[in-house]
Amino acid sequence: MPIPKLYNTLTRSLESVVIRNGKVGVYCCGPTVYDVPHAGNARAALVPDILVRLLRSLGLDVTYVRNITDVDDKILDRARKSGTSPLELSGGMAKVYQDLMAQLGCLQPTVEPKVSENIAEIVALIGQIIERGSAYVVERSNGTRDVYFSVRSFSDYGKLSRRKIDELRVGARIERDEEKSDPLDFALWKGASADEWGWDSPWGRGRPGWHIECSAMSGRYLGHGFSVHTGGMDLIFPHHENEIAQSEAAQPGSGPLAQCWLHNGFLNVDKEKMSKSLGNFVTVPDVLKRNDPEGFRWFLLTAHYRAPIQLDTETLADGRVTFPSIDEAERRVDYLYSTVERLAELPARSSEQVITLPKELQPFTRSTTDNVQAAESSLLDDLNTPVALAALGELLKSANELCDLKLKRRKDPAFVRAVEIPGFTLDTAIRQVTGWLGLLQSSPAEYRERTRRNRADRRGLSTDTIQGMVNERETARRERDFARADALRDGLLNLGVSVKDTPSGSVWSIGA
Ligand code: AMP
Ligand code: ZN
Repeated sequence: MPIPKLYNTLTRSLESVVIRNGKVGVYCCGPTVYDVPHAGNARAALVPDILVRLLRSLGLDVTYVRNITDVDDKILDRARKSGTSPLELSGGMAKVYQDLMAQLGCLQPTVEPKVSENIAEIVALIGQIIERGSAYVVERSNGTRDVYFSVRSFSDYGKLSRRKIDELRVGARIERDEEKSDPLDFALWKGASADEWGWDSPWGRGRPGWHIECSAMSGRYLGHGFSVHTGGMDLIFPHHENEIAQSEAAQPGSGPLAQCWLHNGFLNVDKEKMSKSLGNFVTVPDVLKRNDPEGFRWFLLTAHYRAPIQLDTETLADGRVTFPSIDEAERRVDYLYSTVERLAELPARSSEQVITLPKELQPFTRSTTDNVQAAESSLLDDLNTPVALAALGELLKSANELCDLKLKRRKDPAFVRAVEIPGFTLDTAIRQVTGWLGLLQSSPAEYRERTRRNRADRRGLSTDTIQGMVNERETARRERDFARADALRDGLLNLGVSVKDTPSGSVWSIGA
């Protein structure tokens, strides 16, 4: 079995995924749910999705954990402002996130743990770290107690981000409300007064610090030393550095928290990281108002996950914002669905009949094998999705050439019959590659149906108006008024609507 190689931030090198008894654990740092996700957050969910798909296609038993951070000061602030409780707000936003990621074709994680449902595990882990002498309790002037991790106690601190403690200390300062012994120490537990949001603990009421949750939840669901930990590059420091310190300090001598640390590059706007705090963000619903989710997915796959990806925007005269590169990706998805639909019209394969393949058709079976291999080996080589997309493009090109050839030679029944062999293998190959990439998750009819409304909206049309024109054209054809039927077809074409006549009636679609 081929084993995928991934770039490990910890060792700065490509390494084979560590598999234990056919099992692989993948942990993805999920969203802090105080608002709807932005386009960059979608990239961070898509990268582990591609990895999990690839590992499962190799027959591995993958446990995929993507957490939900539902305890956080930003959630508390937002809830206060909107007059709801923090867990009510985060519960709603978590559902929005899950629904959007599913629309983008992301697999449902095996477990999607929430911080609020793992407080006992968090408290137990903090207790363990204190016992090991790597954390200390501080009493604050208001009587509440915090727990801090002592960075000095963990000699490997900085090994992931390659930062030196002494250099870090220069820039660090202690906030006024913190009473820690070293500016680099970070909170494992933050005390809260009786009327504040919080949970009981051996150190009194409070809430967990940000980093401890991922140590506790990965430990609970994957155990220490699991295979791959993922997240955006912004999480390398301090979040992942601190996760390592906590988990490894709690269990000295038991090896690394995770075997491989995989970090995705940013989705940028004007060369700057898209983020809520910079205010340069486009939400996933903003994108889906204009584009099909599969087009957005294709766009995200066009760059290698470690490279930045640029989201261009264009503002139309009427003020609407468009995303030209996602539009372009959507046209590729159109091509994918239309190709699969064309392939389905080829003769169905009948296994009993062995046909010798005419020379003319042999390159098609070769192209199939070569391109599936190219897609697989590029994904195995650090999830190189742009190369896999290029191989998929070659398969689609071959499929269309095959369909064209069949049309040209339609008067030769033996040839048409032989086309079934490369047709069948091309169809299987396209499904295999799109399976790795999480594309082609609908039928062509479902895709057409789904894209119609968005695209009609973009052109300021209603689907009812278009359907009305299509019906009128069908009537004209039935009444043999071909001049009128043609005029209606031209009118539709001017609107970007193409009509295909099938035995079961006219089917229309709008271009991306
Ligand atoms: P957050 O909700 O801010 O904790 O982010 C959730 C995930 O999205 C984390 O893995 C972040 O690293 C990742 N992320 C945030 N902004 C971007 C961006 N602009 N591009 C790619 N990933 C991002
Ligand atoms: Zn995390």
